[in-house]
Amino acid sequence: MSTTTSHALASINPSTNETVGVVPVTPVEDIPQIVARAADAQAKWRRFSPEQRADVLRPAGQALQDRSEELGTLLTKEQGKPLAEGIGEVNGCGARLSDEVDEIAQAIQPVTLEGDGVTSTVRYDPLGVCAAITPWNFPILMPHWMVLPALVTGNTVVLKPSEQTPLIAQAYADVLNAFLPPDVLQVIHGEDEQGKALVDADVQLIAFTGSKAVGQKIMAAAASGLKRLILELGSKDPLIVLEGADLDEAAQFAARNSFRNCGQVCVSTERIYVQDSVKETFLNKLIEHTKGYCVGDGMDECSTLGPMIHTQQKSHVVAQIADATRAGAKLIFNGKSDDGAFLSPTILDGVTHDMDIMRTETFGPVACVAGVANADEAVHLANESEYGLGAVVFGEPSEAARVASQLTAGMIGVNRGIGGAPGTPWVGARHSGIGFHGGPMGHRQFCQVRVISQ
Ligand code: NAD
Repeated sequence: MSTTTSHALASINPSTNETVGVVPVTPVEDIPQIVARAADAQAKWRRFSPEQRADVLRPAGQALQDRSEELGTLLTKEQGKPLAEGIGEVNGCGARLSDEVDEIAQAIQPVTLEGDGVTSTVRYDPLGVCAAITPWNFPILMPHWMVLPALVTGNTVVLKPSEQTPLIAQAYADVLNAFLPPDVLQVIHGEDEQGKALVDADVQLIAFTGSKAVGQKIMAAAASGLKRLILELGSKDPLIVLEGADLDEAAQFAARNSFRNCGQVCVSTERIYVQDSVKETFLNKLIEHTKGYCVGDGMDECSTLGPMIHTQQKSHVVAQIADATRAGAKLIFNGKSDDGAFLSPTILDGVTHDMDIMRTETFGPVACVAGVANADEAVHLANESEYGLGAVVFGEPSEAARVASQLTAGMIGVNRGIGGAPGTPWVGARHSGIGFHGGPMGHRQFCQVRVISQ
C-alpha cells in the first residue's frame, strides 16, 4: 500500500509493510506544462521513420534483460509476487522488445489501394501526446504494452503509473529514457488527482488499463474534448468444465488461473461452471493442486503465492467470501485470512449468481465452483455477466469448440488459456474494455488514419 503526502509518495512492501522507496508527487499544476513539453518533443520525434524509432528503442530490450534480477527484486518488493515471477516479468518485456518494435513499425506501413481511376494511400500517422495510465498488478508489463506502441507510432507519452508501484514504473521509464530524446517519455506520480489532471490536459489519446469504475470516469472526462480512448478494464472470467474434459488438466488450469498473482490478474478465473456428472472428481483434483501452494513473502524462495497488494483489497475479498458462505456457499478449502495482506487460496462450492462473488470482480485467490446440468446451462451462466474479457472451456475438443463459439467474451481458450497466437490482439467485450492491446489492430489505435487520394 502506498502512503501519500502532498510532496512524497512512499511505496510500501505488502509482505513486510516496510517502505521500499519514495518518489516525489507531481504537483497537479505542473501537469499542463509537462504535457506541453511532450508536445514540443513530439514535433521532432514524429519526423523519425517508424523503423528509426524502433531502432532507438531496440537496445532497451537488452538493458532490461541485463538488469532483470535487480528490477525483478524491486518489482517483487513493491508488488508482492514471487521473485521468479517478478524477474520473469522484466525479462519477458526485455526479450520480446526487439520483435515488438518491428511488429509495430510493420503494422503502420502505408497501404496503397487502386480502383475507379483513383490511387489512395492509407497512412498511419501519430496522434500527438498520449497519456498512459496503468495499474499495479503487472507493473512493468502494463506500461510496456502501452508505451512501446505509442512511441514507435510517433507519439510522445506521459505515463501515470499506479500509486502502488511507482518505483518499478519509474525504473522502466529510466531504462527507455537512456536511449530516447528528452521529453519523449515522461512520468508523473500521484493518485487519482494526477490521473484526472492528465486526462484533462492537452493529450490526444488516453490509453488506460485499470478498473471499470475509473474507466467510466475517464470516458466521461474525455468526452468534452472528444479524446481518443483505449480502455482495458476488469472482468469476471468464467471457466467451463464439461464431462468430456481431461479433468486433471482442467483442475490444474483452474488452480493456476484462479490463484496466480494472488488472483490479481484481469483474466483470472473468477467463476467455474462444472458439469454435475464430473464435479466431485474435478473438485478433489482442484483441492490437490491447491494444496501445493506456499503463501509467503515473494522474496522467500519457497513462496509460490505472495500477499495481496494491500489490506483493503484483501478486506474486499474476505467480505465477498463471508457474504457467499452466509448465503449458502460451502467453504471447501482453506479460506484462512492470515496476517497482514496475506490470504491463502480458497475454494468455494455451491456459489450462485445471487452472490456478489459471482457478479463483482473479486481480484483475489478464490476459486468459485457451481455445478451445471449441461453445456447449455454453462453457456447461459457464463454469459450472464456485464464483463467479457476472457473465457475458457475444457471438454471433448469438438464439443468444447462448439461451446466456445457461443461465449460472448473477447478472448476464449479451448482446452488451454486465453493467450492467442503472435499478432492476435488482447481484447475485451462489453464492460471489459474498448479497443485492444497488441497485434496490428492494437498498434494502429495509436495512429490517426489519413487517406490521400489522387
Ligand atoms: P484503478 O482503476 O484503481 O487504477 C488504475 C490507474 O488509474 C492508477 O494509476 C490510478 O492512479 C489511476 N486513476 C484513479 N482514478 C483516476 C481518475 N479519476 N482519472 C485518471 N486516472 C485515475 O485500477 P488498479 O486497482 O490499479 O488495477 C486493478 C484493475 O485493473 C482491475 O479491475 C483489473 O481487472 C484491471 N486490469 C485490466 C487489464 C486488462 O487488460 N483488461 C489488465 C490489468 C488490470
